[in-house]
Amino acid sequence: MLSVYSIKNTMSSKKIIIVGSGFSSLSASCYLASKGFDVTILEKNKTVGGRARQLKRDGFVFDIGPTFYWMPDVFERFFNDFNTSTKDYYNLNKLNPAYQIYFGKKDSISISDNFKDIKTTFEGIEKGSANKLQKFIKQLLKVLKKVALINFRNLLTKPKETTTLQLKI
Ligand SMILES: Cc1cc2nc3c(=O)[nH]c(=O)nc-3n(C[C@H](O)[C@H](O)[C@H](O)COP(=O)(O)OP(=O)(O)OC[C@H]3O[C@@H](n4cnc5c(N)ncnc54)[C@H](O)[C@@H]3O)c2cc1C
Repeated sequence: MLSVYSIKNTMSSKKIIIVGSGFSSLSASCYLASKGFDVTILEKNKTVGGRARQLKRDGFVFDIGPTFYWMPDVFERFFNDFNTSTKDYYNLNKLNPAYQIYFGKKDSISISDNFKDIKTTFEGIEKGSANKLQKFIKQLLKVLKKVALINFRNLLTKPKETTTLQLKI
C-alpha cells in the first residue's frame, strides 16, 4: 500500500505528483510547493526518506543508509533557500572513532577521525599498508582536483549547464 503525503496549496490548480520520498523527491517537493504547486508525494514504504530512512525496532533506531555527512554546504544551501538553517533543525557532532566495522561479535576495527591514526590502524593489520593508503589518497586527490575543475557543485545543481564541461574531461 502506498503512503501519501501532501504539501497542500489549496489556492493552486497546478497539481504535481512525485513518486518516492527520498532526499531528491523531498527537496524537489519543497521547491515546487514554494513555487505554488499543490504537491502530493507517493511512497511505497511506510516511512519517508528512501535510502536515508530509519529503521526502528525494539527501542533502537538505525540509520539504514548514509553514514557520512558529505557536502554539508549543499544541505545548508537547501535550508537557506527556505530562509532557515540546518542549525534550526539539527546539530552535528564529530565522532571519534568515526565508525567501527564488525566482522564478527568480537572482531572489529575502529576507524579514527584523523588520517594519522587511520594509517596506524592499517599498518597494525598489514605491514606496508599505511604507505599504500597514503598513495591511494594522493591519487584520489588528483582525481578530485580534476573534478573540481568542472565545478562539482554545479554538476549537482545545474546539470544542464555542465554537460559540455563533463565531456571535456
Ligand atoms: C548503505 C548505504 C550507505 C550510504 N552512505 C552514504 C553516505 O555515507 N553519505 C551519503 O551522502 N550518501 C550515502 N548513501 C547514499 C544516499 O543514501 C542516497 O544517495 C540518497 O538517500 C538517495 O536519495 P534519492 O532521493 O535519490 O533516492 P532514494 O532514497 O532511493 O529514494 C527513492 C524513493 O522512491 C521510492 N520508490 C521507488 N519506486 C517507487 C514506486 N514505484 N512507487 C512509490 N515509491 C517508489 C523508494 O521507496 C524510495 O523511498 C548511502 C546509501 C546506502 C544504501
